[in-house]
Amino acid sequence: MHVRPDDEFACPSQLDEIEADLAAIWGYFEIPATERPSIEWYRFRDDADWAAKPSGLCADDAAGCVHGGTLYAPLDTFEHELVHAALSRVGSPPQLFVEGPAVGLTCSPREGRLATVSSDGWAALLDTGTNQY
Ligand SMILES: [Zn+2]
Repeated sequence: MHVRPDDEFACPSQLDEIEADLAAIWGYFEIPATERPSIEWYRFRDDADWAAKPSGLCADDAAGCVHGGTLYAPLDTFEHELVHAALSRVGSPPQLFVEGPAVGLTCSPREGRLATVSSDGWAALLDTGTNQY
């Protein structure tokens, strides 16, 4: 976990909670050890810190994103991105099966904002895109 030196809400004991969450996710999906990536989290302190992230790191409208086992997110989208990172070696299923577990197993990326089907409709959800955010 990479944290800002002035992030007063970050503490080492969170690593134990994250390890427990990962074990629960991998256990739930019966992911073999060979497909369990090592996870690295670049924790953004707050919305302002996230807004100042380097361009191109994630999609412009993303509230967090994952590249393999490495996730970039502030705290409130962390759980969602953790599911993506945990399942990042399982393959590239259609978006419905990428976003479905991340939304279904955690609170919506932002409290009070349910994930919505894009204007492209269901076809986009069945597309095997590569973006995970
Ligand atoms: Zn997602």
